[in-house]
Amino acid sequence: MRLTDKVVLITGGGSGIGRATAELSAAEGARVAVADRDVTGARETVARIAKDGGEAEAIQADVIDGAAVRAMVEQAIAAFSRVDVLVNNAGRSEGNDILTIDEATWDDTVAVNLKSVYLCSKAVLPSMLERGSGSIVNISSVNGLTGLGEEPYAAAKAGMINLTQNMAVAYGPRGVRANVIAPGTVRTPIWNARLSKNPNVMDTLKAWYPLGRVGLPEDIARAVLFLASDEAAWITGAVLPVDGGLMAGRYRMAQDLGAE
Ligand code: NAD
Repeated sequence: MRLTDKVVLITGGGSGIGRATAELSAAEGARVAVADRDVTGARETVARIAKDGGEAEAIQADVIDGAAVRAMVEQAIAAFSRVDVLVNNAGRSEGNDILTIDEATWDDTVAVNLKSVYLCSKAVLPSMLERGSGSIVNISSVNGLTGLGEEPYAAAKAGMINLTQNMAVAYGPRGVRANVIAPGTVRTPIWNARLSKNPNVMDTLKAWYPLGRVGLPEDIARAVLFLASDEAAWITGAVLPVDGGLMAGRYRMAQDLGAE
């Protein structure tokens, strides 16, 4: 098992990618602190892990509230004595087109996707640095790599990449690694609002993916597990797209050119 004796703290662990990561981490031997603003979702994740014989603790926390984040880390350490791996996964997207986005939506979206990484990392880092080891995995997005709309979300996800690189440089010499995953489209509840407007949105999107499908939460969880584990002991500051090939090139353009 690849996370034996590790303690993993996952934000946004009550749904989607966070839940899949929590479940896979537990299956690989980790004890898992499952944090979410939605404690019902976190408890359900914990129940699923317990049913499979794993060990997990649900924690209610809003990752844009500094006091709540500090309490979250204290609760995780009280339950499992330390945090070896922090997965900054909580996130959500609101707002498209800067001409219509209001200031409150901008501020809130940037906070959930970027300030949260600063707050959670700041709360966990001192104990990691004290022990001289730790791994932080941040969940960005392909929206943070190129222009795909959703401006506040995309700008925050791009900022997350730079923040991770700075953490890798600053804390690598003291044994802490920090890496980013940039997922493409993954079928999770984050898409529910758009699916209710257009039930076929996934079919439209999958045509953009060289590997011919959108992602599953498990596709991302497996990459998180790798970067979190000691298998990635010499990897820090990396940005790993897990995106079915979306960022590899201009797939549709290449097809159109090939057809000429
Ligand atoms: P999801 O909606 O299924 O899960 C997100 C979880 O984060 C939810 O449980 C939600 O309650 C929690 N959360 C949101 N705001 C929070 C806050 N302020 N404090 C604490 N918890 C909060 O979505 P998902 O698809 O699993 O998304 C997980 C991460 O992956 C997000 O950062 C998202 O931006 C990123 N991502 C998702 C996709 C995709 O297509 N699903 C693509 C690229 C990146």
